[in-house]
Amino acid sequence: MKEKIAFRDAQKECIDGQALRKYQLERLKETVGHALRTPFYQHRLNKVGIRSSDDIRSLKDLERIPFTTKDDLRESYPRGLLATDMKKVVRVHTSSGTTGIPTVIYHTQEDLDNWTELVVRSIVACGVTSDDVFQNMMTYGMFTGGLGLHYGAERLGALVIPSGSGNTKRQLQLMKDFRTTVVHATPSYMFHFSSKIGELGFTVEELNLKKAFLGAEPYSENTRKKIEEFFKIDVYNSYGLSEMNGPGVAFECIYKTGMHLWEDAYILEMIDPETKKNLGDDTQGELVLTTLCRQATPLLRYRTRDLTTVVKGNCPCGRTHRRISRIAGRTDDMLIISGVNVFPSQIEQVIMKIPEVGNNYQIYLAKEGALDKLTVKVELYSKLFSGDLQDLERLKRKIQDELRASIVITPMVELHEPGSLPEFELKAKRVVDERIKI
Ligand code: ADP
Ligand code: ZN
Repeated sequence: MKEKIAFRDAQKECIDGQALRKYQLERLKETVGHALRTPFYQHRLNKVGIRSSDDIRSLKDLERIPFTTKDDLRESYPRGLLATDMKKVVRVHTSSGTTGIPTVIYHTQEDLDNWTELVVRSIVACGVTSDDVFQNMMTYGMFTGGLGLHYGAERLGALVIPSGSGNTKRQLQLMKDFRTTVVHATPSYMFHFSSKIGELGFTVEELNLKKAFLGAEPYSENTRKKIEEFFKIDVYNSYGLSEMNGPGVAFECIYKTGMHLWEDAYILEMIDPETKKNLGDDTQGELVLTTLCRQATPLLRYRTRDLTTVVKGNCPCGRTHRRISRIAGRTDDMLIISGVNVFPSQIEQVIMKIPEVGNNYQIYLAKEGALDKLTVKVELYSKLFSGDLQDLERLKRKIQDELRASIVITPMVELHEPGSLPEFELKAKRVVDERIKI
């Protein structure tokens, strides 16, 4: 690539309108040139009459390119859609495999440098500086949440504690001893963490925590609020996927008005997942991304399967890259319950608003005869369990009513003791679907 992405101060690198489109076109041409080196894209692109990067004359030409799907990547496991000489490849990452065989992404040194700079830009946007102490509580290894954030925070000059996930007691000790100011974790782990602090003999007050980047799985605005209030910190939403590097694709700034998607590194499109038609900025749709600065594994029109909306208006921070809203779910997350489409995130949104509800829940589906039966199991804060039985019944009904109002189905509601439902150190698996057992 001719020029490296650069930008300590994300404010400055936000190019606007015309300039951005010109830049994107240059990068797209180059990316198509790279992609044509893979047999996969050569075949796909030739079929639609694209034989060289010169066949891309405007950004409109992007629409001629067929979508790339997760299955396309899976079929090429483990060699991947490699567009460069293997000698130039310095690292390989895979996805978590939440929904099947993991996908493989190769990186050259330049790819890693660009990714790192995108992470620097992201964390600068939420006010992190070289004075911060950053504890990365994400799993290290193939999962991109570990090394991705690690290199970015290091390059910014923060003190990095590569604690990895799990071992809550040790995390707390490190946090206290090194005066950690920023953490990176999944929202489910952060919840788990909050429930263990007292039990392990620590208090929030003796920590020096100021911010958390939470991501890797969907969570609601109410979950953010609960975590912010418990720890007295600011929580910033962080979005990424291994196919697009990992974290650092879209990140909230200090204003928390949606996640700025770095449009000089990715082309953002929004499609209707059914008809695959391009949608305007106003409708919720599936996010489709094209890499603009990747050599080893360029991806064209990659269907993320994540559902989101482009946020309207300008952000007070002045950054001009468009923002995407909190991810509503994955297209393949959607549950069909008695014929009604329900996303787990809708359920979370309702229950996390109820103050008596604790940190964990599970969505349990079974068959009762021919009918689908939905049970929502929720943990409560401990003090409630010593309360009046009638109060518990009332609470159950309240949860049931609020869920019915939102998802149109009347679920069974079970109340559970804190700590009794399964807990997760990385991505939570909250849906248990027993309906499909043969
Ligand atoms: P896998 O697809 O196997 O889970 P990844 O580890 O690459 O592999 O995870 C990327 C996915 O995680 C995204 O496509 C998205 O569904 C989810 N994700 C990442 N960040 C967020 C976030 N901030 N909010 C909601 N979902 C997220
Ligand atoms: Zn902003």
